[in-house]
Amino acid sequence: MTGPARGPEPLIFELSSPGRTAFSLPELDVPERKLQEMLPASALREAAPGLPEVSEVDLVRHFVRLSRLNYGVDLGIYPLGSCTMKYSPKINEDLARLPGFTELHPYQPEDTVQGALELMYLTQRFLCEIGGVDAVSLQPAAGAHGELTGLMLIKAYHTSRGDTRRNKIIIPDSSHGTNPASAVVCGMQTVQVRSDRRGGVDLDALREVLDDQVSALMLTNPNTLGLFDENIHRIAEMVHQAGGMLYYDGANANAILGIARPGDAGFDVVHFNLHKTFSTPHGGGGPGSGPVGVKKALEPFLPVPIVGFDGARYYLDYDRPRSIGRVRSFYGNFGVVLKAYAYIRSMGPEGLLQVSKDAVLNANYLMRRLQPYFDLPYDRHCKHEFVLSGRRQKAESGVKTLDISKRLLDYGVHPPTNYFPLIVEECLMVEPTESESRETLDAFADALIQIAREAKDQPDLVKSAPHVTPVGRLDEVLAARQPNLRWRPPAPGGS
Ligand SMILES: *Cc1c(COP(=O)(O)O)cnc(C)c1O
Repeated sequence: MTGPARGPEPLIFELSSPGRTAFSLPELDVPERKLQEMLPASALREAAPGLPEVSEVDLVRHFVRLSRLNYGVDLGIYPLGSCTMKYSPKINEDLARLPGFTELHPYQPEDTVQGALELMYLTQRFLCEIGGVDAVSLQPAAGAHGELTGLMLIKAYHTSRGDTRRNKIIIPDSSHGTNPASAVVCGMQTVQVRSDRRGGVDLDALREVLDDQVSALMLTNPNTLGLFDENIHRIAEMVHQAGGMLYYDGANANAILGIARPGDAGFDVVHFNLHKTFSTPHGGGGPGSGPVGVKKALEPFLPVPIVGFDGARYYLDYDRPRSIGRVRSFYGNFGVVLKAYAYIRSMGPEGLLQVSKDAVLNANYLMRRLQPYFDLPYDRHCKHEFVLSGRRQKAESGVKTLDISKRLLDYGVHPPTNYFPLIVEECLMVEPTESESRETLDAFADALIQIAREAKDQPDLVKSAPHVTPVGRLDEVLAARQPNLRWRPPAPGGS
């Protein structure tokens, strides 16, 4: 599929024609001199801004054209591993936008916001039930923020017992990058443990690093390989025996809803990403929410306020003398919590269980369809995601995983996560989520299988992809370091 490249599209700046406008405003009815008096000098322009002069229809076409260059979950499959890019039902967006919620003020008296507090209280309870923990704070604004909060809680717990030497956080080599980053921000040292041949924590390696300086082990289970660590009870026992705590990175809880609870497996702290698992679309940097749940022993340290209920009314509980304090202004990202509440209520326990069953089924279906064409480093049933390796393609024809992903763009598909987790060479990490139909999964698999064939027969076609996107390969490092996002008019008098 090497369709003709789309022709060059006119830039709005090139369409500019002096005097053409996209607006018609009423005559200015304030004397210009008066305006100049009213506005501070710093707000007054000396020269026209040099914006393109275009008609309304050109302006609309410009923005619609731009919007169509964007790819999102609402356009097609987005199998970005570890990101849970699933469909977030639109009704939850509508509910979060109800004026009764959006027009609340965070400093309103509690008696006037009983509904909002009830909703937060119940979300705390639901997350306790889902995670198998005793108390939840909704304050953290994202997954990484939840991790930091959780590690601060663990630190406060150890310190409260006079156990002040525990400054080590154990992290497996398959972990998400935010885990070591959060540990360092919390002032901890990170200690890496290797994974065993089945992709789980290597118990011998773990034994070697467990001592009386261990604060906690951070674990994702199923991990970023999409594999469930069957030794989790043994691991929990070992860490607890050494006096450490277990932190569960539950950013991608999509495989365990209604099936397994981190708290039951021995974890003491868990965070959830409401913006992955619980119906807030993400990926554009918009608001997220990373609630943290804890077992009883850690509850006194949770951030203030927690939403409480005394049997008659809901209230914000600030009376928590051992709290680590606030980790965010007000009460967290209420709109995101609201969507999670609506999602959990509308799905119900059976619906959430079905989510996880379907997410796991979809991942296993894709994995087995793709297995003949790519290396499968861990040939086990996967959970919500799985990891392939492009090392065969690289060895045979020099086609790298990055090339395969770029070629997927020509098929109109968003690629999987590349080169993560770090322990798999030429890694492709695929998370289809529960949202996709059998037909969509097949179309995605067909595209990858076709690319595997191309890698053999026409490797240059793959290495030079993408061919049909408006731009080719970008310097991604430069784009991230020095983003050039703004059109600037030519200097006045310039060409
Ligand atoms: C996404 C993710 C995180 C981080 O979540 P943010 O909200 O992006 O900070 C942490 N751990 C895992 C396993 C993740 O997939």
